[in-house]
Amino acid sequence: MSSVVTRFAPSPTGYLHLGHAFSALTAWHAARDVGGRFLLRIEDIDIRRCKAEFTEAILVDLAWLGLDWDGEVRRQSRHFDDYGAALDRLGGMGLVYPCFCTRADIAAAQSAPHGPDGPLYPGTCRHRTPEERRQLMQAGTEFALRLDVEKAAAAAGPYRFHDALCGDVEGDPLLFGDVVIARKDTPTSYHLAVTVDDHLQGVTLVTRGEDLYPATHVHVLLQRLLDYATPRYAHHRLLTDADGRRFAKRDRSLTLRAMRESGVSAAEVRRQAGFV
Ligand code: GLU
Repeated sequence: MSSVVTRFAPSPTGYLHLGHAFSALTAWHAARDVGGRFLLRIEDIDIRRCKAEFTEAILVDLAWLGLDWDGEVRRQSRHFDDYGAALDRLGGMGLVYPCFCTRADIAAAQSAPHGPDGPLYPGTCRHRTPEERRQLMQAGTEFALRLDVEKAAAAAGPYRFHDALCGDVEGDPLLFGDVVIARKDTPTSYHLAVTVDDHLQGVTLVTRGEDLYPATHVHVLLQRLLDYATPRYAHHRLLTDADGRRFAKRDRSLTLRAMRESGVSAAEVRRQAGFV
């Protein structure tokens, strides 16, 4: 048996569409074609947008497509303790600070340089004194936790990672600025949860859409800080419809569910996704 371990990690905020089928099939084949393991992870930390109904639909749709996975499905919402432990380690290294800014505060900082997700956080809360932080917390002001990426970069040192799409890449720890690692409404963030889970699940090859490629710079930084091994990456192009548009959850007619109900076979979906 090969040591390759891949995963498909959808967020249950809607029904799966053809673009997801492509992504899931890519991950499944990358493992199974070489005798490796394929894992399924449900990324449901966003309690407002994720629904149990969509999680159930993901399991049904993938099984219909002919995909099976190894072991139990990992549901992120059941593992907040794991993310909390990683957060404590980063906090213990002095790399985390509370941020009390609202979205409006951040949007108002027009002059901030932009990163892949829009304006970089201008650093307003980075320099608050312990006394100011204490007062804001005592007043019940909600806060997120951010990574001080300049300090984090110094602690991690230079790093590289390998991506099948982009080759051998030099990590850019500052790309997203001081990223949120625990949100105001949930005690983790996408970046932290994905990094902790890929580590705990022993993922050796991360396949996912190229829209998530920039985030890899942050994930590998977190791996360095937390002493995790860095997997290999294979970002893939995004499947587009006949008009060249990316599939989106809003395109209801193109969900796997709708295709199945209109009589399209699983084999046909696999073919449309480019797999025979
Ligand atoms: N949950 C993410 C999504 O649905 C994917 C995360 C990942 O593969 O790293 O877009």
